[in-house]
Amino acid sequence: RDPKDGLARTSPDLKSSDRFENEALLDFAVKENRVSLETALRELRRLLPLQCPLVVNGQELRTPDAITRENPAHPAEIIGHVQMATNEEAEQAVRIAKESFPAWRATPATERAALVDKLADLMLRDRFQLIAKQVLEVGKPWAEADGDVCEAIDFCRYYARDMRRLAAGQRVGHALGEVSIYHYEPRGVALVIAPWNFPLAILTGMVAGALVTGNTVLMKPAEQSSLVAHDLIRLLKEAGFPPGVAHFLPGIGETVGEYLVNHKDVATIAFTGSKAVGLHILQRAALVQPGQRHVKRCIIEMGGKNAIIVDSDADLDEAVDAILYSAFGFAGQKCSAASRVIVLEENYDKFESRLIEAARSLHVGPAEDPRNYFGPVVDSTAQLRILQTIEKAKTQHKLLFQGEVQPVGYFVPPTIFGEVDPQSELAQNEVFGPVVALMRAKDLDHALEIANGTEYGLTGGLYSRSPANIEKVRRDFQVGNLYINRGITGAMVDRHPFGGFKMSGLGSKTGGPDYLKGFMEPRVVTENTVRRGFAAPEGE
Ligand code: NAD
Repeated sequence: RDPKDGLARTSPDLKSSDRFENEALLDFAVKENRVSLETALRELRRLLPLQCPLVVNGQELRTPDAITRENPAHPAEIIGHVQMATNEEAEQAVRIAKESFPAWRATPATERAALVDKLADLMLRDRFQLIAKQVLEVGKPWAEADGDVCEAIDFCRYYARDMRRLAAGQRVGHALGEVSIYHYEPRGVALVIAPWNFPLAILTGMVAGALVTGNTVLMKPAEQSSLVAHDLIRLLKEAGFPPGVAHFLPGIGETVGEYLVNHKDVATIAFTGSKAVGLHILQRAALVQPGQRHVKRCIIEMGGKNAIIVDSDADLDEAVDAILYSAFGFAGQKCSAASRVIVLEENYDKFESRLIEAARSLHVGPAEDPRNYFGPVVDSTAQLRILQTIEKAKTQHKLLFQGEVQPVGYFVPPTIFGEVDPQSELAQNEVFGPVVALMRAKDLDHALEIANGTEYGLTGGLYSRSPANIEKVRRDFQVGNLYINRGITGAMVDRHPFGGFKMSGLGSKTGGPDYLKGFMEPRVVTENTVRRGFAAPEGE
């Protein structure tokens, strides 16, 4: 333990067999990996346009309404048609999920965990197909799509393992003649509402968390990534989950999502997405509907306005490279992305010119071509919103750099603004695109004041070589995930349990030891073990 703050600086000594191991990422410098992905992309293209039905109780359902999902890099290419759930199918799914709950709750946790492990094995088997679909449906670059699939696998394995640990329960107290067991129970029907930016990982994490703990699940994927999400319900079925425990309801958030949030029989809502929708869901979930038997619990993960502080003694070679990736990886469409860079006075000018030089080397184009640093943004609505934000910012701030992009497809150029006022809209609101605001700070206190000066508290970073400054920032930078002398994206299950607070979420970290408890109720059963007399079994 560190005497300064009493925190353990090393992890407890685990035997290597007890350690959680993350699934290793693919190395696309290896020819076989490149060839496998190119083949998967070709094969996927042969199947286009894909069909994406609803799945309720294991049955594929078609509805009158469908949306068309186009490749954001080549809008003329139709990736698939996604059936939109209506309230009618949603109602049917809720009823079956509710009916299926008692049997699923009674299924031993070890069996549920084994199914979730099986799901991870199937994802590993289908890895290249899963990556290829993300590349075409949401424009995710190869390595990032692979990272997403690995994260989905990690969530399954981590939660399966954690459930085995929690299922054992624990004895509490030590009074003679009394046994009290503290243990966890599932809550009922869980509604999972997912974003599109980690199309498999985030959805899988929430679904696996709900299922392994014994809840039944209604999956509402994002409109932009339902084709990727469809693979999850396909693999759940193949893994052997009973059909009544997970239902797939692609649809419009404001209609079917809203209907499910308001439903009296939904006990838990696991949501990841924007602040506006997250807060709206929290408010709706607080209203008790006629016939409702429980208080709804919400696990809410929202956006960020993440900053990296560059100290006066920072290693700029390292900082520039990592900041570029933190800001522009996947076109800045990560909740953890760096959108503010706060540079101490002594380094500001040097850092600014080096960042611009480095940004000039970025190549933007279709994600299927691995030479491109990042691909398109997810759809035309996102493109328009980000481009309008940039145009407005140009009238208010100093534009330092704007890259070039091809005219066809939903591309947004990497854009950097300098000397940005920390209170401006650009510095306060989440843009969710490849846009960075540089800010100048007088000293470290000022940098921290700027860094903490938004309503969000998701990720943050520091580049510094000063132990005293590192210690100060460690203590005072109020974010859920703080990264020191490294990039601020790419959280890994177990190594970096992830999630923010303030307006970024309720702080229930995914991929960490507290996450599963959100889907469960703690119970204590106390038995007086001092028997008075002896009740013989009947017939004796
Ligand atoms: P979004 O909020 O627009 O949509 C998220 C989901 O909510 C979608 O499935 C959508 O259909 C649904 N939805 C919309 N309105 C609804 C309503 N009224 N009732 C029920 N459901 C509704 O977010 P998005 O554009 O998909 O994702 C981007 C956002 O997600 C960004 O703000 C990003 O920071 C955030 N995000 C946060 C994390 C995190 O871990 N904190 C991770 C990924 C993304």
